[in-house]
Amino acid sequence: MTETFLALLWRLSEADEPILLWGRQAACHFGPAFDRLLSSGVLEECLPAAEWHPCVDCSCGAYSRIIQLREGASWALCPHDIYRDTQLGDDDLRSFQVHPDGLVGLIADALARRKDLSLHLPGVWLIESSDDPAAIVIIPSRRTLAQSGLEGALREARRGDLLLLSPSLSAPERIRFTRAGIRTASLAAATSMSGAGKMTVTLPQKPVEEKVHPTLILYRGARRVTWGERQIVLSDQPTRLLAALIERAKTPSPHLTTRDVEDVIYGSLAPATARPGRDIIRELRDALTKGGLDQSQVKALIRREGNRGWRLDCQDVTRVEP
Ligand SMILES: [Zn+2]
Repeated sequence: MTETFLALLWRLSEADEPILLWGRQAACHFGPAFDRLLSSGVLEECLPAAEWHPCVDCSCGAYSRIIQLREGASWALCPHDIYRDTQLGDDDLRSFQVHPDGLVGLIADALARRKDLSLHLPGVWLIESSDDPAAIVIIPSRRTLAQSGLEGALREARRGDLLLLSPSLSAPERIRFTRAGIRTASLAAATSMSGAGKMTVTLPQKPVEEKVHPTLILYRGARRVTWGERQIVLSDQPTRLLAALIERAKTPSPHLTTRDVEDVIYGSLAPATARPGRDIIRELRDALTKGGLDQSQVKALIRREGNRGWRLDCQDVTRVEP
């Protein structure tokens, strides 16, 4: 089976504009879908060809051949040898310019998000809106895709979930975008077109986020805590508090009351200027938030449970290092 018409158009769109579809390539795809793309401006018919490429093995040295109508048929003439003249079919003289922005528009239409579509950079289209968390970036051209720093520019434009639709990527290319937290899918795989020229888009599902906590490790001596890939430096009291929470979390009574917190920090020698335990809890939570954790994440991690006090909700993957 040869490639579908839409796959052919995406493949041609990988090159830089102007993108030409030759009549000979197009002929087997003529029909309602073709007509619809033509009337909607995705395809634009060019003037009939007036020249033809030179004969392959000819010594005439010509860069192109004149096309002449002879007895109702078109012929590409060889200036050197009449027997090398080539008869051309009607479709051979036709050619069509492909407009990738038109194809991109059809994707937005299929997703009912035309109003969210904008040209973000040359050759880079973005479908996004504040009320839809799923943003899509569409890049048909390989050269645009290869621009250095592109993934960073995309990340700046859109911080949340971002799906890139592009030509199929090599493994290193895929890694490049995955590292920037950008999901990828190929245009040819995500789109299809009915015989009547209606585009359908099937986007890959966003993977369900795993609820497993990253490992929380407290390096007590260095007053440093790591949470997955994040590193957060703590001051002295929050360090001691977190160490106590971690140790308590492994016991049958994992909670620390306000009084317990004060005992951990001051022992029996609370100075007159001692801060209430509640403040030290807040300082620890604030430090974790400043270190890059979500506020909700921090509240879930250092959880207040009524009168029983605070406990660390992360016990099975948590430890204290000296
Ligand atoms: Zn020739």
